[in-house]
Order: sequence, then structure tokens, then C-alpha cells
Amino acid sequence: MRLYSLLAAAKINLYLEIIGDRPDGFHELVMVMQSVDLADRVTVRSLGPETIRIRCDHPEVPTDGSNLAYRAAALLVEEFPNIMAKYGGVEITIEKHIPVGAGLAGGSANAAAVLVGLDLLWDLGLTQLELQTLGARLGSDVPFSLVGGTAIATGRGEQLDFLYGLDGLWVLLAKYRQLSVSTPWAYQGYRQQFSHTYVSDDVSRQARQARVRSGAMVTALGRQDGHQIGQALQNDLENVVLPAYPQVDRLRQVMAEMGGLGTLMSGSGPTVFTLAATLEEAETLKHQVSERLADTDLELWVARFTPTGVRLMD
Ligand code: ATP
Repeated sequence: MRLYSLLAAAKINLYLEIIGDRPDGFHELVMVMQSVDLADRVTVRSLGPETIRIRCDHPEVPTDGSNLAYRAAALLVEEFPNIMAKYGGVEITIEKHIPVGAGLAGGSANAAAVLVGLDLLWDLGLTQLELQTLGARLGSDVPFSLVGGTAIATGRGEQLDFLYGLDGLWVLLAKYRQLSVSTPWAYQGYRQQFSHTYVSDDVSRQARQARVRSGAMVTALGRQDGHQIGQALQNDLENVVLPAYPQVDRLRQVMAEMGGLGTLMSGSGPTVFTLAATLEEAETLKHQVSERLADTDLELWVARFTPTGVRLMD
């Protein structure tokens, strides 16, 4: 029986600016994305019956057609209609380590891993560009999740310019177990309150993108300067999520007070992260935050910046 096992890394947003509306209902974004080595393990295995089966050890992750990993496999079957007649079906096993509904793109990482795994299992020979184009049809974060590392993401997040990354930094991630934030809700809320800051014509959008490309975050990454990266952290969605979720707001405040290089909410939240220069610093921060908040519902992880998105295991 053939099988492939892959590691699928989570991402954090070091920078997220919303610059406009799009006719397709999404928002025009300028983001800086970073992979971290908090990763799910995804295994694709040939199956006799011509079907797609999902198994996952996390109770909140659906195992039906709504799972993004299922949708990735279904998209390949749609593109290559005879593939199951030749190779049979597939069982996809997801071992979850990335928290669910956390703003860390766990579902997108799983979909990216399935695209890479099935490309191998079904001998499809897809190029990186073909994988990314298919990924963009599944979700805005999937193209980044495929490659990983450090990138400027524009459009709805699927247009990527990869940057020279920084593998040395560490990050403390924290999330309340019972809390998740709906991504569509966060973007709608932002639109309701801040659409006056949007630009609509292409020239102004390109100017905003250029401002980020030559701005503090990208400059700090270029200089490999952790302190400057920490100071340049920005996420527009904090303006809607933090006022609506006082628990997340307080968590962010406490984490920022404890030190580190800088603190931010990732994506639409509710995960909050603090950057740290060393593993020891990240572990100390973890200890301090959990002592200070003393809440059994609070989950904390220490992870490291990583240059890869999906990685094949031996
Ligand atoms: P994003 O920031 O991309 O909106 P997220 O990181 O906040 O996503 P995910 O963990 O990707 O959140 O999942 C969001 C929702 O999608 C979950 O509540 C879950 O019901 C559903 N879902 C579908 N497929 C998956 C999957 N493979 N892993 C996790 N959640 C999934």
C-alpha cells in the first residue's frame, strides 16, 4: 500500500493591512505571512474503493465534504476525472497540532498538504505554479501554506512575493481553548467601521502596496532585525476583534507587558503571539503568561519561524 506523510505548518501574520473591497466579496489585502513549526501531520494512503475518506483526531474538525482537506482531494478528482479508476480512492489522516479556528490557517495547511501528497500518490507531476493555482481555488491562504517561509501576500492573500526569511526567531502563541473568531465576521465588522479608509482605484492600491514593500516590516526582515520586526507588527483586524473579545484584548495586554520583541493577534484571531529572540526567552514568557493569567482554558505553544510550508516526511 502506498502512502505519503507530510508536515503542514501553521502561519502567523506579521502584518495585515486591509486596503479595499473587491468585486468578488473578498477584501484587498497587504500582508506579511510567516510559517511557524507548529504543524499538523497529514497522511494520504491509497484505498480500494473509489472514495475520499477523512480521519481526524480533533473533535471539532469535520470529516465530511466541508473539510478543506477533502475539498482539496475532490478538486484534483474534478481536474483529473479518471484518476480514481486508475489509482483507487484515498484515505486522508489528519493529526491535529495546529489549534482549530485560531487564525493560524490550519485548514489551509491541511489542504496544501493534500495537494502535495496526492500529486505524489497519483503521479500527477504538477508544477509548483499549478499547485498554487489549484490551491487558490480552495482558499486565499492555501498558496502560501504550500510553500511557506516568509512572504508578502497581496490580492486576497493568494498573490505571493517570497522574502528572504528569518529562521532564528521564536514565537509564543496563546489561545483560549473555547474561543474562536469567525473570519467572515471580522472582515465584515472591519468593513462596517473602516471602509472610509479603503482605496478603490488600481493606482492607489499599488501605492499602498508599495508603501508596505518599502515600509518598516519588510525593511526589518531584510535587515534580519528581530527588534525592528517586533516594533513593525500590525494587524488591522485587531481594531474589530479586540473590542468585541475583552478576553483576547486582556491576553494581548498581558503578553505585551511581559516583554519579548513584540505582540500581535494573528489573522482574525483569537490567537495572540509574542516574538522572542531565543527559545529560553520564549519559554520564560510562556511561564510568566501562564502564571499571571492562571487560567486552565488558556493554551500556550512555543514555536520557531520555519522556511517551509508543506514538508514530506521520510
Ligand atoms: P482562517 O484564518 O484561514 O480563516 P483559521 O486558522 O482561523 O482559518 P481553521 O483551523 O483553518 O481556522 O478552521 C476554520 C474552520 O474550518 C473550523 O472551525 C472547521 O470547522 C473548518 N475546517 C474545515 N476543514 C478543516 C481542517 N482540515 N482543519 C481545521 N478546520 C477545518
